[in-house]
Amino acid sequence: MNDLTVLYIAGYGRSGSTVLDVLLGGHPRVVSVGELVFLGSDWQSEDRKCACEEPYENCPFWKGLFKDSREVNSLERVVRDIEHRHALPRLLFDAHSEEEKRDYRRRTRKLFKYIAQQGRADLVVDSSKSGRQAAGRFWALKNIAGLDVRVLHLVRDGRAALRSVVEKGSNWALEGHIDEKRWLGTQTTVGWVLANTIAWRLGRSLGSDRYYRVKFEDLLRAPEETLREIGDFVGVGLEPVIQRVARDEVFEVGHNVGGNRIRHRRQIRLEKTDMPNPHPWSDLNSHHQILFAAFGQWLNTALGYEW
Ligand SMILES: [Zn+2]
Repeated sequence: MNDLTVLYIAGYGRSGSTVLDVLLGGHPRVVSVGELVFLGSDWQSEDRKCACEEPYENCPFWKGLFKDSREVNSLERVVRDIEHRHALPRLLFDAHSEEEKRDYRRRTRKLFKYIAQQGRADLVVDSSKSGRQAAGRFWALKNIAGLDVRVLHLVRDGRAALRSVVEKGSNWALEGHIDEKRWLGTQTTVGWVLANTIAWRLGRSLGSDRYYRVKFEDLLRAPEETLREIGDFVGVGLEPVIQRVARDEVFEVGHNVGGNRIRHRRQIRLEKTDMPNPHPWSDLNSHHQILFAAFGQWLNTALGYEW
């Protein structure tokens, strides 16, 4: 396990993590698997499939991972009990039992080892981010499972993330898995603040060599420079990826897990732009403007987004 590194993409959804995940997976030493936190629950669900469109038990990448459905259940349970936002106080005060931690460590290490072997890679990209189900995930992967975890905190202007959710609906609702919720704007703003605050504070607590923050807007504006910085942070020369981005090539989506619908396109291209979000306020309706100004803009400013 010593030569296996986990690059964890932290932060809130709708911030470009699927695109970044797929770009990084284009490197021969890297395997990217999307929102890995959902592997157990997706596996158990009738209608959720791997990005390759196969049910997980038939997918050529995943099918050898579990012996039986009991193992799937156990992984799902132990991940929920340790990584969910509800468990964050217990996690940070080290209140889980030794047995729970041992179980988590064993199952998680087995999972990452399997992924690295299947992908013939020594860097695994996990884009589970820091929402409800994964609030404590990177912290637990590092401090309980003992993995070599680097946290890439991917941020996007909260007004653009909010607009994306209220205009298009949530990924899961679009795929028909949940009913669209009421109070979507409020929920999104609070979720964005919580996920980014958790990613920032917990990420920094791992030490400056394990935490790096990147703006999605910079990836769109200056992809080559931004990818080079990410490569420096994680200690992998991303030149092969950078050259493909410079040539405007498409990237194949691998066997990604999770809720983002764009993973079901088989190919993704980075849509470069100098002006990713030209009208951040006027793109929101007045209700959402007030909401975000009151609850989100303080953090947006702290992350470097101007009013
Ligand atoms: Zn697959």
